[in-house]
Amino acid sequence: MKKPVKVVVTGAAGQIGYSLLFRIGAGDMLGTDQPIDLMMLERNNEQSLKNSRGVQMELDDCAFPLLNSITATSDPYVCFKDAEIALLVGSRPRTADMQRADLLAANAQIFVEQGKAMNEVADRNIKVLVVGNPCNTNAYIARRCSPDLNPRNFTAMMRLDENRTLTQVAQKANSTVAQISKLAVWGNHGGTMFPDLTNATVAGKPALDLITEDWYVNELIPTVAKRGSAIIQARGHSSAASAANAAIDHIHDWVLGSNGEWATMAVPSDGSYGIPEGLTFGMPVICKNGDYEIVKDLELNQFQKDHIAANIRALEEERAIVDEIIAK
Ligand code: NDP
Repeated sequence: MKKPVKVVVTGAAGQIGYSLLFRIGAGDMLGTDQPIDLMMLERNNEQSLKNSRGVQMELDDCAFPLLNSITATSDPYVCFKDAEIALLVGSRPRTADMQRADLLAANAQIFVEQGKAMNEVADRNIKVLVVGNPCNTNAYIARRCSPDLNPRNFTAMMRLDENRTLTQVAQKANSTVAQISKLAVWGNHGGTMFPDLTNATVAGKPALDLITEDWYVNELIPTVAKRGSAIIQARGHSSAASAANAAIDHIHDWVLGSNGEWATMAVPSDGSYGIPEGLTFGMPVICKNGDYEIVKDLELNQFQKDHIAANIRALEEERAIVDEIIAK
């Protein structure tokens, strides 16, 4: 039997957490031969801790053979001690009275605190996935506050955007998602995100030969960008099971490999494609041996360059706001 891996989930009692934890326990994320020590971080207030106790009771009642231990705590230094994987889901939702800068500031506090705690006590090679929004910038904050950890390992979730694009394209091209390759979503998990079909193939044929440019530009790109709002309209709540599924896909591929296929991860830019170094930017990567590599040497056309530039602007604006907060 393998040694258990210590996995942290923050915001475990939230909507996404409620789907995510049970899939982790069932072995969907790290494989059915990998035992897990599960650590759940909740806020230190009576209601939050009560909610997380309820979730823990249900996890107990699943009797998952892979869950070696389950711990719920509100102390990040206890939670992150020796943690090898962290899914940072917990964050402050935007309320009607909040401006974007208020949301960034409220969440910055959470990710500064968690970054510092990871820096002190986590495994030096901890793999971090930030789901809580604004996820790209929250991942940037956590990385900035964890200077002793591997900076490459602070990633944010754009896999839901990739998965949403895959299904839209498969349905339009009368195909299946399994037949689609080399599709990526660039940039920020926000309104500017860029689902990119330039290199995508469907059953080996160029995707752009199977769909019209009009559908791609005027239907697909806005549909993916607005899908979160469409789910709220339809269901009355934000995406939860599909977000949890994307988090599972992201970590699964990072740890176990993507079999040579592209996967979209928001990762710290190394300067490729003119993306300023250090921005947490959605890009195509290939995962192998527990690591990822940014797909290199793609020829970008003007359409791609324009969309990537819009995402750089959006993320640089957010970075400027949070840099001031971190410096305080
Ligand atoms: P919920 O509001 O249902 O849950 C959030 C959870 O986070 C709550 O349990 C909350 O606790 C907890 N929380 C808040 N602050 C902290 C903290 N400091 N430490 C630990 N836990 C904390 O939200 P969802 O589960 O629906 O969504 C979570 C996040 O994921 C949101 O930011 C959402 O925007 C984002 N998201 C990202 C997607 C992506 O593609 N990247 C897709 C979908 C969602 P309490 O009960 O005490 O408030």
